Amino acid sequence: MAWDFETEPEFQQELDWIDGFVRNEVEPLDLVLVGSQYDKRDEHAMAAIRPLQDAVRARGLWACHLGPELGGKGYGQVKLALMNEILGRSRWAPSVFGCQPPDSGNAEILAHFGTPAQKERYLQPLLDGEIASCYSMTEPHAGADPTLFTTRAVRDGDEWVITGEKWFSSNARYATFLIVMVVTNPDVDPYKGMSMFIVPADAPGIEIVRNIAVPMHTETAEGDHAYIRYHDVRVPADHLLGDEGGAFVIAQTRLGGGRIHHAMRTIAEVGKAFDMMCERALSRQTRTGTLGSLQMVQERIADSWIEIQQFRLLVLHAAWMIDRHQDYKKVRKHIAAVKVAMPKVYHDVVQRAMHLHGAIGVSNEMPFNGMMVAAEVMGIADGPTEVHKVTIARQVLRDYKPAPTVWPSQHLPAREAAAREKYAHLLEHEVGNQ
Ligand SMILES: Cc1cc2nc3c(=O)[nH]c(=O)nc-3n(C[C@H](O)[C@H](O)[C@H](O)COP(=O)(O)OP(=O)(O)OC[C@H]3O[C@@H](n4cnc5c(N)ncnc54)[C@H](O)[C@@H]3O)c2cc1C
Repeated sequence: MAWDFETEPEFQQELDWIDGFVRNEVEPLDLVLVGSQYDKRDEHAMAAIRPLQDAVRARGLWACHLGPELGGKGYGQVKLALMNEILGRSRWAPSVFGCQPPDSGNAEILAHFGTPAQKERYLQPLLDGEIASCYSMTEPHAGADPTLFTTRAVRDGDEWVITGEKWFSSNARYATFLIVMVVTNPDVDPYKGMSMFIVPADAPGIEIVRNIAVPMHTETAEGDHAYIRYHDVRVPADHLLGDEGGAFVIAQTRLGGGRIHHAMRTIAEVGKAFDMMCERALSRQTRTGTLGSLQMVQERIADSWIEIQQFRLLVLHAAWMIDRHQDYKKVRKHIAAVKVAMPKVYHDVVQRAMHLHGAIGVSNEMPFNGMMVAAEVMGIADGPTEVHKVTIARQVLRDYKPAPTVWPSQHLPAREAAAREKYAHLLEHEVGNQ
């Protein structure tokens, strides 16, 4: 009977090391480093980060989301989930461990779909943590529905020429290259007419119109989400990533992993808010005792604990399913469920923690405002909640097989008659007892 909630002792040792290392060495950086974790040119920040990265490498825990052929551990998603629910506590920790988004997702698709030359030029330095990358897909007029994208690439001899607009291209300002999704054939079904390109960030014609700020606690105040115009940007033909027309297949590979990894880190974020809530409940005095002695506060703590446990189990199960099937498509329903659950548990727990802190809770001296925005972002980025609910419902209904004896929504009288006949002896007995 394989239904095991325990962690192997050897891996638990690694988790204990990660926990201590993040708590003592990395989390304090969140309070002193103000720049972006993606800015590799920030010498001040890099001077603090590089030695920590070396310690992680020496421990053999660098880029664990990757297989051994790419220098990772090939841990699989369950182990990654257990790691990420520690790393997610600090905005610097994923960079220190070589698994920060969106670079981790971009590395995944370069590894899957890149040519040897693309891997050498773009993947290797990304894996080594030397450069940052950007995923440039969403357009100002089209996000949740990518079939409406209009940014075009037209073939011109040995080059492709890209024209159009993208926005919310996170970290473009720090990136060495961008992975851009564009229409290459407007005359076929959009699912077959779009392609991905690797675009060097210094290619002539890239204009960053502005960098938009999202006031999350994990971001810099200047804004990291670029609104980009591509003015006839030329890339060599060998910068096509994967097949022409293959953008949606690549996007799904990337987003499947990206969504579940966000969820793993969200467990940590929510856990942090919950810790703060408990600390407040036990330390704040009221006329009759601590906040924690009041039943309405206890209800908030109980609800939060239950919701975090539910979410964590949902994430771990989805991770286990990915390991089992090794195919994001087969696990779409589970990943979509995690994606839908994530903003709600994040919002609800943070809101309760914020409320229990009173005035200081809503101030800029606590992280709750930024966490509330981050919770909302989780329900928008990588596709809004509504779209993922539709995915779940469609898959559930597609796989639904009517069981012969479940409570039916139709033909109830006929089934009831059959049940009465089957259990006639019991019913007679009941009547006899009355
Ligand atoms: C912090 C942050 C970082 C991001 N980083 C990146 C990045 O690096 N690269 C990138 O390409 N994109 C990025 N995005 C963009 C993100 O992927 C899009 O915001 C998302 O896909 C939604 O698109 P939209 O903003 O155009 O919203 P819209 O498509 O306009 O949707 C707005 C709302 O309409 C409703 N809605 C839309 N479609 C449906 C539907 N089918 N059914 C029911 N309701 C619907 C939902 O309530 C939805 O929230 C980022 C976004 C944020 C907030």
